[in-house]
Amino acid sequence: MVSVHSTAVRTRIAPSPTGDPHIGTAYMALFNHVMAKKHGGKFVIRIEDTDQNRYRNDSESQILECLSWLGLSWDEGPDKGGPFGPYRQSERVKIHQDHVKILIEKKHAYRCFCTAERLDKVRQEQIASGNAHGYDRHCLDLAEAESLKLLASGAKYVVRMKAPTTGQTSFVDKLRGVVTFENATIDDQVLLKSDGFPTYHLANVVDDHLMEISHVIRGEEWLSSTPKHVVLYNMFGWKAPEFAHLSLLRNSDKSKISKRKNPTSIRYYRRKGILPEALLNFLSLMGWSLDGQTEVFSLAQMIEKFELDQVSLGGPIFDFTKLTWINGQYLRKLSNDQYYSFLKDQIFSDENIMKVITLAKDRVDKLEDFLPAMLFFFNGDLQLDLNLLVPKGGTMEQAAENLKKVVETLETAPSWDAKTLHDLLDKVVKEQGLKAKDVYMPLRIAVTGTKESPPLAETLEALGKEMVRRRVFLACEQLLKVGQ
Ligand code: GLU
Repeated sequence: MVSVHSTAVRTRIAPSPTGDPHIGTAYMALFNHVMAKKHGGKFVIRIEDTDQNRYRNDSESQILECLSWLGLSWDEGPDKGGPFGPYRQSERVKIHQDHVKILIEKKHAYRCFCTAERLDKVRQEQIASGNAHGYDRHCLDLAEAESLKLLASGAKYVVRMKAPTTGQTSFVDKLRGVVTFENATIDDQVLLKSDGFPTYHLANVVDDHLMEISHVIRGEEWLSSTPKHVVLYNMFGWKAPEFAHLSLLRNSDKSKISKRKNPTSIRYYRRKGILPEALLNFLSLMGWSLDGQTEVFSLAQMIEKFELDQVSLGGPIFDFTKLTWINGQYLRKLSNDQYYSFLKDQIFSDENIMKVITLAKDRVDKLEDFLPAMLFFFNGDLQLDLNLLVPKGGTMEQAAENLKKVVETLETAPSWDAKTLHDLLDKVVKEQGLKAKDVYMPLRIAVTGTKESPPLAETLEALGKEMVRRRVFLACEQLLKVGQ
């Protein structure tokens, strides 16, 4: 049995491996890492991978790789284990199921056999009557005998928590003070799904408790889930951790940061040549200030001065110009050797060079022509001749619209490889009734800046999804601006 001093600070991030490693994950990891290190505590990574529908198998390793590139070391996690493992939720399902049984026995939870059709009907009726208050508790009073009979017959069921219906649930958020929710607004949340997997709420509470997490520092999008969690802690008779919900990073129009408006993958910034220290420095400024004026400071300085309750709640705008400025400050301070090693890691990495060699082989006769021919790959944002993006007789708006459709279709690619991308491009041509050249040429120009480039699908594969999305986004933005 592990014994941990009850005042030990233990923080965690609990990313779901559902896509590219997100800049918001780095933001949360930073504050959790700093909080733990400040107090001589432990920072834990737990992978919340119980949503099988959204699971992507390379996502976990990419998240870990990006966080370690950033220098946000962790003490326990799926790769290094630790005394509170396993650190992947999918390996803890039995623990979650056992805890659901405890809640059923205590009559804090119940089996629900309602079919999807019935739930849908109830929802429609609630919407029509303007009285949407969640599940109607149809199965709450199912007699034990009936419930067991259905169970024995193999009927599908979920387990729901029996949420309180009167009174209020309050908790203290370290940044927001006392937060109170009316219990009537808390739904009988599903805790265990019909496939036997726990939902986020159940697994999150059980694992945070068993892993002795002292501070749950996460994004404000989880604030409205916290009353459910507090109810669960009470049902189990456990002490809840401290909570702090940080503001989300925002696009310049104040909407929640999204890949439609800002690149959100940490890998994109690495590929752009943003230094890890600069990215961390920039992310710290999004929610915290060293002394109200110093803008360039190290992780060690942040750890030294950090106080959780000084984190600010203003919606932090993800301002790329600011990030670039900070990056410049860091770049200038590097020795030539350090500079060279960042160049080798982030721009001229073996991986990048190998991708480009494949593209260049058929097109370059002398090695000195390699770089000019492949410049589009290494370049940052491209200068485009917008007229080349507009198919004959079309408008700039239409061109932008088409490019958007094309990239949206490409994003559905189950894997980002030339063959899949090629097939998807064909699909766009057929389904949208467009001419092949009106799809291929504008896309080629948007992502390479030139009419002459290696085969398009191979080029898209080499550039990667984030870079393609970014360049098409910028092309559309310019088209719409000039086309007005
Ligand atoms: N799995 C959740 C996420 O993807 C974790 C939220 C939390 O920190 O509780 O962000």
